[in-house]
Amino acid sequence: MKKVLILEDEVSIRSFVVINLKRAGYDPIEAGTGMEALERLKENPDVGVAILDIMLPDIDGFEVCRNIRATNKTIGIIMLTARTQEMDKVTGLMTGADDYVTKPFSPAELTARIDALYRRVGGGAESDPEIIVHEPFTLNIRNRTLEKDGRRIKLTQVEYAIIQLFMQNPGRALSREDILTSVWGRDYDGELKIVDVNIRRLRIKIEDNTANPTYITTVWGFGYKWGL
Ligand code: CA
Repeated sequence: MKKVLILEDEVSIRSFVVINLKRAGYDPIEAGTGMEALERLKENPDVGVAILDIMLPDIDGFEVCRNIRATNKTIGIIMLTARTQEMDKVTGLMTGADDYVTKPFSPAELTARIDALYRRVGGGAESDPEIIVHEPFTLNIRNRTLEKDGRRIKLTQVEYAIIQLFMQNPGRALSREDILTSVWGRDYDGELKIVDVNIRRLRIKIEDNTANPTYITTVWGFGYKWGL
């Protein structure tokens, strides 16, 4: 898995980033101080991208950045800057950072930047960008997001999993059992009705006309399929 170092002394922000990195398929390496970050990098020379906070209890993020760059030209470096610290951006880029993200940031924004850097540093040849487009929908598997006509549709994790299953199997009739097993897992022993409940909610979110669905269509007596 692609490793990403996250240096941030504020535990709440760090765990927020860690959760979202994992969700995006990265392997997060954590550090709470500048010195710790440099140690972690020595132990993990295959880290492709480092996210560095600037205000830290020991040496600041710029110093860490300079230190990393002194020996490593290829690693991608993203600085975390506060909104008010415009100068941080300039200083950060001068010390060798590739990019910066301003706090507060959204998980999607941060992972998009990491993805971009990872592509640039050539971090692995994993089959790319994991995006499925079925007009008007765009599914981003890495970020677990769905857009319709370029607008994000807010989905629960279960709803997302259902949509991904559909979009990876366009035109294929999926039984309610198939959907239940694939989304809730083989050991789930709830009722099939939960599939219908989630489909109904999904239709409200994605269909143009829920009375006449054209994206998630019903296969009578069997289940559902993606498309007409
Ligand atoms: Ca800090």
